[in-house]
Amino acid sequence: MSPLGSAPKAFASEGAKLDASSLIQRWLDVKDQMAKIAQKASRSPKDIQLLAVSKTFPLTDILALKEQGQLCFGENYIQEAVEKIESAKSFPQMKDTQWHCIGPLQSNKTKWVAQCFDWVHTLENLKHAQRLNDQRPAHLPALNVLIQVNVDGGPTKAGVQLEEALPLAKAIMGLTRLKLRGVMTMPDFHPEYNVQLAMHQRGQAVFASLQEALGEAQIDTLSMGMTQDLQAAITAGSTLVRIGTAIFGGRGVPA
Ligand SMILES: *Cc1c(COP(=O)(O)O)cnc(C)c1O
Repeated sequence: MSPLGSAPKAFASEGAKLDASSLIQRWLDVKDQMAKIAQKASRSPKDIQLLAVSKTFPLTDILALKEQGQLCFGENYIQEAVEKIESAKSFPQMKDTQWHCIGPLQSNKTKWVAQCFDWVHTLENLKHAQRLNDQRPAHLPALNVLIQVNVDGGPTKAGVQLEEALPLAKAIMGLTRLKLRGVMTMPDFHPEYNVQLAMHQRGQAVFASLQEALGEAQIDTLSMGMTQDLQAAITAGSTLVRIGTAIFGGRGVPA
């Protein structure tokens, strides 16, 4: 069974671009679905943010959703993201947009990330944290960061092991140009809802342990859930879901 239930409707065919009204309708459908799942889980829909994952899609799509009230956009590929973020600056209506880096970090790109983004979800070592801290421009507020936690994989998969999250979190707390906000997870897709739920519950447990150690006011974000595991993620306690396909359609290439 698809954990998505009824929505979203058929995905766009490979690489096809949606017209603005279908894009907006799909975005509304996702929000509606999030609210329904939240209610079913006895959670308040306003405690769950939607990050629109716009990687590979053009700025025109981002503009269309921003005009509807979508504030946060997620990007993976640094060069593509930097170009979009720069171009967005010429549109006054994009001024308060929050850009989230959700792609893997590389040392030679941290400078771009520190200069262009408001959030980073994929922090997994102190070396990258220190680079981002040193490279964050003085005129910008501290960079919001999440520690990526490996909830389901072996040692080669991205993210820190469960027990490494707290020591890394404490070290990041000492970096004044970073603001640690919580945890991000990205388990491999599994078709069974109960397996998805179990993986997301691990992420939730790490998040709760960070909250307990460092305070709930500071640690307020659990980035968990994508198009295919949205329901399990929200049910397990996600506060931010990262949705690409259900909003923008298929990307054509796996990404
Ligand atoms: C692409 C991507 C998403 C969105 O995935 P969909 O399945 O298209 O919703 C979410 N998180 C990360 C880290 C991604 O790379």
